[in-house]
Amino acid sequence: MGAIYCKHCMKMIDTQPTEKVTNYYSECEDVQCRESRVESLPAGMKQESA
Ligand SMILES: [Zn+2]
Repeated sequence: MGAIYCKHCMKMIDTQPTEKVTNYYSECEDVQCRESRVESLPAGMKQESA
């Protein structure tokens, strides 16, 4: 059996009834994950306030 993981947040999305144990990577539909993909720019919202 293979598993499909989100390549962004590593969450398991689905499983596949394959003979070999194989991991696939796709994209989940999680809202937070989708937002984090869009926010792939440097200097995001995680700036530390001195
Ligand atoms: Zn994800």
